[in-house]
Amino acid sequence: MTPKDKKPEPNDSSLIASRVSQEIRDISPYSVPYFDCKIRLDGNESPFPPPKEVQDNIDSAIKEIDINRYPDPEAKRLVQIISNVCDFPKEGILLGNGSDELIGMLITAFSHGTGRILCPSPTFSMYKLTGLAMGAEIVEAPLDAKFDIDLDETIRAIDENDPDLIFLASPNNPTGNMYSASKVAEIISVSKGIVVVDEAYSDFSGYTFLPLIKECENLVILRTLSKVGFAGLRIGMLLARDSLVSEINKVRYPYNINSLSQVVAEVVLENCEFVAENIQLIIRERDRVYNALSALEQIEVSPSDANFIFFRVNDADTLFSKLVERDILIRNFNKPGRLQNCMRVTIGTPEENDSFLSALSEILSS
Ligand code: PMP
Repeated sequence: MTPKDKKPEPNDSSLIASRVSQEIRDISPYSVPYFDCKIRLDGNESPFPPPKEVQDNIDSAIKEIDINRYPDPEAKRLVQIISNVCDFPKEGILLGNGSDELIGMLITAFSHGTGRILCPSPTFSMYKLTGLAMGAEIVEAPLDAKFDIDLDETIRAIDENDPDLIFLASPNNPTGNMYSASKVAEIISVSKGIVVVDEAYSDFSGYTFLPLIKECENLVILRTLSKVGFAGLRIGMLLARDSLVSEINKVRYPYNINSLSQVVAEVVLENCEFVAENIQLIIRERDRVYNALSALEQIEVSPSDANFIFFRVNDADTLFSKLVERDILIRNFNKPGRLQNCMRVTIGTPEENDSFLSALSEILSS
């Protein structure tokens, strides 16, 4: 290109203003503040690495990978194993690079009717963030005082908006509770769009809506390996009728599950007794931490069906900084409104939970 053909370069701000939608410009990115603490109870991950014998199997399986080649685009072996573990037909399973990616695929595939997405509030922020980024309109239905679905309000919002998609995380993040099963079933039956029940934490509640797929053609279930020991693999799972899965599969990027994640997930799911034992240990610890928090007068604690506990204090920002000073990281949700002074602590190892509880009592009594 000669200098005279050179296009004038717009300055950054006009480039962005003319080429990026207002919706994206208005979004605050999903950000997890990073503090380099020894005890990390902020991300709802499992605190337990795989046992030595499973780690040895992982190491040998990784050595066999041809990393010069693309992965299996359909992750067929892994899908078959998941089909066996979940007792669900493989044609109804689709994998994502974390369930985050599946949320994006669902919105790409299914927000072209009314263009509206309904979710309760407060809930996992990625439904709204991804929806806004993709140009959808977000309708929020506030949860009731116990953070359960407000059925009358939600049905009214469904009638008024006819959403293409409804996202219900049960157990919900950040509040930790399951929604009433009868309310979820009612929403699935009245909705003319797709209802996504996000079961990221269902291993800790022991309850699943999966059997309802037989009766409900508009139900999609999301699961993830992230909360039960394998957050680093980024494996999310979508389960639904084959007809829905075929449509969603059309918007999936090729090779979205990398070779290393495929192989490691195959090994861990074929040796998954330790996963079930760790889940039981986390549930026992959750109940112990819940009882200890309930005994503290300055804390208002919510019952949990997940691997974390949601609570409110008088001054979340100060408590957060004092915990960080003691090398303990939890999640601070403090902002005006429903989440004022609210925090979330992930259940860690028994020793980590003890450290958190004693630091908390010390700070609150000082
Ligand atoms: N759904 C819910 C309710 C979550 O809390 C999270 C993780 N914070 C996700 C989905 C995303 O999980 P993944 O790691 O599989 O992307």
